[in-house]
Amino acid sequence: MQPKMQLFMLEKEISNYLLKSGNKSLNVKAFLFDMDGVLFNSMPFHAKSWHLAAKEFGLDISEQQAYMNEGRTGAGTINELALRFWGRNATQNEIEEIYKRKAEIFVSCGHAEPMKGAFELLTSIKKSGLKIVLVTGSGQKSLLDKLNHYFPGTFAPENMVTAFDVKYGKPNPEPYLIGLKKANVAANEAVVVENAPLGVRAGVAAGIFTIAVNTGPLPDEILSKEGANVIFPSMQYFAENWEKVIENLRKS
Ligand code: MG
Repeated sequence: MQPKMQLFMLEKEISNYLLKSGNKSLNVKAFLFDMDGVLFNSMPFHAKSWHLAAKEFGLDISEQQAYMNEGRTGAGTINELALRFWGRNATQNEIEEIYKRKAEIFVSCGHAEPMKGAFELLTSIKKSGLKIVLVTGSGQKSLLDKLNHYFPGTFAPENMVTAFDVKYGKPNPEPYLIGLKKANVAANEAVVVENAPLGVRAGVAAGIFTIAVNTGPLPDEILSKEGANVIFPSMQYFAENWEKVIENLRKS
């Protein structure tokens, strides 16, 4: 499958979305943003810390697999591993212990920088009068606390969905459905911005037009297969082409 990467495909992909979803128009009022690999260049640290923490507990997850699992809550990832290697669910105690260790290693990896272009894109979206909601599976306090530092005045608790708000987490549509509620908009009034296969699946399952930014090592085809409506190569590309993107969204 040809990756849907080009900006000029946006118009066609919007028509496809409308046909499939049965909506008459895409009346965008809100953007729902994933955090890791979208707002922060934090995925290399997450992948490494999952790999190392799991190993300490006799579990095995490669960095590549960590990218494939991205989007799940910590508890979700640990349970997947427990089922695979121990043949049973992880206990609450094990989940807490392993996640605590993973978070410690994550912090020791260093300082996750904001993704290039993220600030500019968020600024443009705000200037266009659109709402912004964070929808992350993360419970990593060190990053959640940094949102305000790097993106001041953008994320308040009432427009954030984190690991603490969800029962199922991505790839279930639940976090994005909660995001729609927080933005007070319908599915055809929002756009999801995601980098991870399971996050794309969640956005698409929630019935929302989903833009994938491929900021990691996985091939575009994986994001296409999960149903991404378009794929951009970076957040910087998205920020630089914001005017064209919003123009296309508004004429639909
Ligand atoms: Mg992500």
